[in-house]
Amino acid sequence: MTSNPLLSGLNEQQFQAVTLPAQSALILAGAGSGKTRVLTTRLAWLISTGQVSPHGILAVTFTNKAAKEMLARLTAMLPMNARGLWIGTFHGLCNRMLRAHWKEAGLPQLFQILDSADQLSAIKRLLKALNIDDEKFPARELMYFINSAKEQGLRPHEVEAFDDFARKRVELYQAYEAQCQREGVVDFAELLLRCHELLQRNEPIRAHYQRRFRHILVDEFQDTNVLQYRWLKLLAGLGTDGQAAVMAVGDDDQSIYRFRGAEVGNMRDFEREFHVDNVIRLEQNYRSHGNILDAANAVIRHNSGRLGKNLWTEAGSGEPLRVYEAFNDIEEARWVVEEIKALIHDGTARDDIALLYRSNAQSRVLEHALFSAGIPYRVYGGLRFFERQEVKHALAYMRLIANPHDDTAFTRVVNFPTRGIGARSLEQLQDAAQAHSTSLYGALNFLTGKAAQSVGAFIKLVDQLRFACEGLKLPEMVEQVLELSGLRAHYLTEKEGQERVANLDEIINAAANFISEEGYAQVAAEDETAPPDPLSAFLSHASLEAGEHQADAGQAAVQLMTVHSAKGLEFDVVFMGGLEEGLFPHENSVLERDGLEEERRLMYVAITRARHRLYLSFAQSRMLHGQTRYNLRSRFFDEIPAELMKWLTPPASARGYGGFGSSSAVPAAPASSNPRSFGSGRKNPAVNDSGFRIGQQVAHAKFGAGVIVNAEGSGSDARVQVNFGAHGVKWLALAVAKLTPA
Ligand code: ATP
Ligand code: MG
Repeated sequence: MTSNPLLSGLNEQQFQAVTLPAQSALILAGAGSGKTRVLTTRLAWLISTGQVSPHGILAVTFTNKAAKEMLARLTAMLPMNARGLWIGTFHGLCNRMLRAHWKEAGLPQLFQILDSADQLSAIKRLLKALNIDDEKFPARELMYFINSAKEQGLRPHEVEAFDDFARKRVELYQAYEAQCQREGVVDFAELLLRCHELLQRNEPIRAHYQRRFRHILVDEFQDTNVLQYRWLKLLAGLGTDGQAAVMAVGDDDQSIYRFRGAEVGNMRDFEREFHVDNVIRLEQNYRSHGNILDAANAVIRHNSGRLGKNLWTEAGSGEPLRVYEAFNDIEEARWVVEEIKALIHDGTARDDIALLYRSNAQSRVLEHALFSAGIPYRVYGGLRFFERQEVKHALAYMRLIANPHDDTAFTRVVNFPTRGIGARSLEQLQDAAQAHSTSLYGALNFLTGKAAQSVGAFIKLVDQLRFACEGLKLPEMVEQVLELSGLRAHYLTEKEGQERVANLDEIINAAANFISEEGYAQVAAEDETAPPDPLSAFLSHASLEAGEHQADAGQAAVQLMTVHSAKGLEFDVVFMGGLEEGLFPHENSVLERDGLEEERRLMYVAITRARHRLYLSFAQSRMLHGQTRYNLRSRFFDEIPAELMKWLTPPASARGYGGFGSSSAVPAAPASSNPRSFGSGRKNPAVNDSGFRIGQQVAHAKFGAGVIVNAEGSGSDARVQVNFGAHGVKWLALAVAKLTPA
């Protein structure tokens, strides 16, 4: 067996896991211990040893990016036709199944997927149509309620309601379902629930898939929710004679979706229900240097109720974690950029560098700084390509071609570009649709007068588009849409529309890539049914796409993402910014013990993404949601042993941390241009005779508040360098500038 080259290089536990006989297994192991690698290798091993054909395998990954990586690794290990292989996210796999059995699932053939922004606007539209007081039933809360009901597998009639408020909410859930059904759209949670119901109710389809999938492999199992686990059990035929072999891998310390209903208890249930005899543990970490791993272990040790794991590494301890205290968020971003420049200069590839943050809103300042410095970057998650306004407009037209009764798409573009359809006409149209239980498209017949005329023109355009696109290839179709809808012309005349036009053109590329790519081949290769039509396949791809295909793919770029979307990934260098109380741990979490523990797991995920170098930073103040906030540094700093950290800024406000200057073995931060990296060679650590010191907060009549970051000279020649945040970093002669201690 060992002669199989696939297996060389695995450690003993990994080898054991990869070569397990066809039985269900649970691998419980910490970050970077090779869980994903084991899963991929097992796939290759099962196929190459002829135990199963690609057709008999279903693998669930956490993101589309992970699925693609797995497929790429697999085909590198083992040249093969991956067509019959089902690898994807829960949502992607359910979509695939529903496309194949739309009729049995009670869906229109060309059903469209609502992403969360679409879903919110659909709910807002519903509340408006029903004249619901949105103070009492805020759309966002209703959306949350509906989604969590669905994630628990509950339809409206199954939700318990004991008072008027709860009953009304359930009624709205029901109305929302009716609206979606009428419009032929499904939201993310519905994909899963609908697919689960399909398997549950349709015995032949269930039997078909149970026979087909002999091996089911699930990565990041700790983050599955109740419904996903039930779906897996159905598909695996739990308890039936021909039960599939399910291999689940996970790490309870990385469970970070409990707020979305993920159940770490699924791991225990899995062990019991699938009769797992021995849980395999992997304890050697292959990813990170010792100091990084020690920091991660130290942080997570503060959580209670862990399943308990030990991680060790053969790699040396490496350098200490680099800690930076910034004056404000802008200065933090500037410092990050300076460090990145130095790293790139020293040979680090851009895509080996990741900037992580707790909340999406934090990316803007970083993006701005990177952009100004001309450093290519890519944002994962957040405002991804397919979520940009102009792109969504174009997609809405395409959705109307696929299905004119899609009211969400209809509402989005009925008056965009403006074509004189006023709010009054739209209201009339909505009322008519409501009264006659029809879509907006179908309600035209009930309109009269001016409204009938203006809306009629739009509906004519929709029909014309459909007609013009008939028989066209997908990219040509996009071109037609951009022209006939007037979108391109519209953005061409807009003052800052160039980028938007470029994005519109990028959809043509995306469409061309899509049909030539594995993605579509995977969907189209569904053997039981005729291939789905490329338009609706592309549209669901756009809804599910997690931003991996942003513009200029292929160019090496610094990677920006939330900690949540960094799960499973690894980078040579990681910057974890905004480590402030209220931000990370997030303010919503600190009051509940569970909440705080989830934040800590998130911090564990963040730390363990780094291979060689980890930067941790925080800012004394930052603009967030239009307000300046003054935060304390995160409690997580107190949980990391001081000797693992090297402070790049003076310990002025970092009292109690002996980090500054204490790790003399470590070279100074590489950025010579960085005003606040205090190397050992720094001559003048303080301005003694003037009474000012480095790290001190000062005020200046013109530039406002700042902090002294450097100093030189003495007496009448004394100068200090002050960071004034938005006003920049300036050298001031103390004899001239009127600086006062703040
Ligand atoms: P996470 O919990 O973050 O998802 P993981 O347990 O899935 O981590 P992997 O991503 O599979 O870990 O592996 C981490 C790194 O270690 C990868 O770069 C992988 O290639 C490498 N690795 C895993 N096992 C070995 C091994 N036996 N020899 C060398 N490198 C290994
Ligand atoms: Mg992994």
